[in-house]
Amino acid sequence: MHEMSIAMAVVGQVEEAARAGGAHAVTSVRLQVGELAGVVPDALAFCFELACAGTVLEGAELVTESVTARARCGSCPGTWAVGMPPELCCPGCGRATDVELLSGRELEILSVRWEDGPAGAPTREPIPEEA
Ligand SMILES: [Zn+2]
Repeated sequence: MHEMSIAMAVVGQVEEAARAGGAHAVTSVRLQVGELAGVVPDALAFCFELACAGTVLEGAELVTESVTARARCGSCPGTWAVGMPPELCCPGCGRATDVELLSGRELEILSVRWEDGPAGAPTREPIPEEA
């Protein structure tokens, strides 16, 4: 499952940061998830809980922040919300060439909070996609 591998990657990254920071219990993890990242939030929350079991993250809350997918037209000044499934044809001029995706593919850890206090953002590296 796609969400499971993402959850495992998130837990792995947070565990590493928590260990480095000397934290004993992680209370919450904020994750930025783009609309086009292909992640089902409910499935991710479920997998996250499973992946956390037996780690320093056990019982941690997963807060997902969704990012609206937007695109920019190369033929006119138009920008629009792409939506899901993505609409990559410019609503302004009707062209689908030179369309640049501005946002929507984000998948990264924004911040982690643990019992010793806010830890800030130990990493903003994109989570690797499964092979
Ligand atoms: Zn256009």
